Amino acid sequence: MKISKHSVVTMHYTLKNQEGMTLDSSEGRQPLVYLHGVGALIPGLETELNDKSQGDKVTAVIAPQDGYGEIRKDLLHVVPKSGFVGDEELMEGMQVQLDTEHGPQIAVVAKISGDEVTLDLNHPLAGMTLYFDVEIVGVRAAEQEEITHGHVHGHGGHHH
Ligand code: ZN
Repeated sequence: MKISKHSVVTMHYTLKNQEGMTLDSSEGRQPLVYLHGVGALIPGLETELNDKSQGDKVTAVIAPQDGYGEIRKDLLHVVPKSGFVGDEELMEGMQVQLDTEHGPQIAVVAKISGDEVTLDLNHPLAGMTLYFDVEIVGVRAAEQEEITHGHVHGHGGHHH
């Protein structure tokens, strides 16, 4: 069967950046299992996988606006260094966990200047063109309960 809305797709994937460096891959691990058409994957990749079938190999180049979005300046926050407590010394490039009203969030320390720390809350893959190699391992129709929950149950999925 072909991949369409509410297909349960099993796939192996490798994600590379423009320089050809592997950022993420299912190689050597269990394949990824997801419910198609509900936003589980970035929009550009779901679009590329529409109508594909088991055994298909898909190479997709995803622009930032169809991936994790462009880098947003409003997601750069300048905060006082004195607001950070803990043993570890702050360094540019390190990740810190913030407690926000939406729950814990990871930010990257983009810049330290005197007592001012610039935190970058953009997704690490924001602003990047993404190169995917995908192999479709399996396609099946979702159970009604999976559609209601918005995720996959059973092998490779959530267990309740
Ligand atoms: Zn569930």
